[in-house]
Amino acid sequence: MVRLLAGREVVDSLEDDLTPRVASLAARGITPTLAVVRMGERPDDLSYERTAARRAAGLGIGVRSLALAADAPFDELARAIEAVNADASVHGCLMFRPLPPHIDEARACDLLLPAKDVDGITSLSLAGVFAGAPQGFPPATAQACLEVLDHYGVPVEGKHVVVVGRSLVIGRPVAMMLLGRNASVTLCHSKTEDLESLTRLADVVICATGRPRAFGAAYFRPGQTVLDVGINFDAQGALCGDVDFDAAGSVLGDAGSITPVPGGLGSVTTSVTMAHVVQAAEKIAEG
Ligand code: NDP
Repeated sequence: MVRLLAGREVVDSLEDDLTPRVASLAARGITPTLAVVRMGERPDDLSYERTAARRAAGLGIGVRSLALAADAPFDELARAIEAVNADASVHGCLMFRPLPPHIDEARACDLLLPAKDVDGITSLSLAGVFAGAPQGFPPATAQACLEVLDHYGVPVEGKHVVVVGRSLVIGRPVAMMLLGRNASVTLCHSKTEDLESLTRLADVVICATGRPRAFGAAYFRPGQTVLDVGINFDAQGALCGDVDFDAAGSVLGDAGSITPVPGGLGSVTTSVTMAHVVQAAEKIAEG
């Protein structure tokens, strides 16, 4: 049977590391604090905000919600981000995207200080990822992929990794981070020809396209490691990944491994965000 790369184990390990660090900050009178900037009330944003608040509370991390109306003007959003930048008691900021269409998203992201950019959304944070010289933090989902591979001892150095999806949220940064780990990376997208042949060649396949169960048996071969980044809903409204789990699992076999959805990368991403907030607070505490 295919090996399950469960997010829970990785989350537990990350949180075991964070607990004493938060306690040490608390002993110095510092509560690591995350600001969540949200425009409007999209159900998935609200749901993630609740999850993040619950996880943060369990770790002793503070959360402040800055909720703006969906039609708030750019200047109001800019003031909220600048308030986060100026507030010494806030160490990290998560801004839900996509922002409403009337907002210049790139401009809004770049208002945030890279030191507080715990989800790698600013140009400077991304430049650091691409240059291999970190400034701020990498996007949390991209780092979550590496955390899963590291936790389960999946080697990447010298291995062929195929990443499907080239967004700045996940595909491109994870490709650069894997390159930094000496993997040989193929980055694929919607115009890639004969995708199935490419994914079958890989040692590790990362699927991040947002297409429910689109990666069936034909995309895989025995023994591969598959990370399913997708968070999608199928026609029946059930949460699912990009990978057809049963079909892929039967091809990957005993020597293969795969992250489930739910229960895979999503929960690890939240823990990585929390780890970034703690790291940001530690940096400030260390002056
Ligand atoms: P985007 O829509 O921004 O990007 C999707 C990417 O997939 C694009 O690069 C696109 O190619 C590519 N793509 C689309 N169709 C195909 C196809 N037929 N064949 C090959 N590539 C294709 O999505 P995101 O990157 O923001 O998110 C991807 C998925 O990851 C979503 O399900 C999202 O919900 C999930 N996600 C999960 C997170 C987590 O914590 N686990 C966090 C963030 C996102 P092109 O560039 O050519 O258009």
